[in-house]
Amino acid sequence: MIDPFGRKITYLRVSVTDRCNLRCSYCMAEDMVFLPKAEILSLEELERICSVFIGLGVRKLRITGGEPLVRRGVMTLFESLGQHLASGALGELTLTTNGTQLAKYARQLAACGVRRVNVSLDTRDPVKFKELTRGGRIGEVMEGLDAATDAGLAVKINTVALRGINDGEFDDLIAWCGERGFDLTFIETMPMGEIEADRTDHYLPLVELRPQLARRWTLTDLSDDTGGPARYARIAETGRRIGFITPMSHNFCEGCNRVRLTCTGHLYMCLGQDDSADLRAAVRASESDIPLIAAIEGAVARKPKGHDFIIDPATQRPSVDRHMSVTGG
Ligand code: SAM
Repeated sequence: MIDPFGRKITYLRVSVTDRCNLRCSYCMAEDMVFLPKAEILSLEELERICSVFIGLGVRKLRITGGEPLVRRGVMTLFESLGQHLASGALGELTLTTNGTQLAKYARQLAACGVRRVNVSLDTRDPVKFKELTRGGRIGEVMEGLDAATDAGLAVKINTVALRGINDGEFDDLIAWCGERGFDLTFIETMPMGEIEADRTDHYLPLVELRPQLARRWTLTDLSDDTGGPARYARIAETGRRIGFITPMSHNFCEGCNRVRLTCTGHLYMCLGQDDSADLRAAVRASESDIPLIAAIEGAVARKPKGHDFIIDPATQRPSVDRHMSVTGG
């Protein structure tokens, strides 16, 4: 699949649920209303859509949410998708998780062929964690990380940089990731979905962070390119990689290789734009994959050149109405 700007689409991110057991304040509203079950694709429908994407050239699948590991029966999806790894049709199957369920599932994930997990963790302070996630227990994440390591999964920690919340902890996080053998990626807050708080208060452009880190750590740029908005460096003192995801202060849309499927079957061609294609209608319309393939190809042909995220202090409106938990981070 090649889009109108010559970009090859080889990466699909799939949100398997909009539900989450945490309520991170920058991500969700406290009284978040979740989608009715009837609107959500079944695991079989998700598997069918993913298989069609693989047939069309997708080599990397990332399962996300909401919290993917709270979806009942989600391991059956990993098992069936793992078969595409075994056949060589798929190059990588991975997930983004808050880590709270990894103690239960890390071993099974590894058995399905998952080799790497991204675990979101914005603070190591148990009190701050509880506050930021509105009730989360950090001990569950730490147990999950131990289980992931024991199962042989490589771990990357994702940390949203939040001014006034975790900006005093970055050195500690780098050192801890070094000790644990984890890579670490910092993410800028993106204006997605209504939340109670004002995001502009906590927005921390990562262009500011990098020189600050360079005072304590020796960073060497790496050319690793995932086709995403992250840029990586090696930290000499820990030997680990550090990433910076800067959709706001820099975007890297020209190399974008990905599309995103929501749990309701909407395919978004860009995280920061509203256009989508309804794959649920296509998958439910026929047992044949032909309408589904046509819908996917039609959508890729409309992939926009780039996003136009802005945090507008004047209007206080998010630039995209969907929460990250709907499209999948
Ligand atoms: N529950 C899983 C997790 O915690 O990783 C997967 C979904 S979560 C929406 C994916 C990632 O998006 C998390 O790292 C989260 O911190 C990040 N995220 C959520 N809302 C965001 C926002 N408005 N701006 C930037 N990152 C956000």
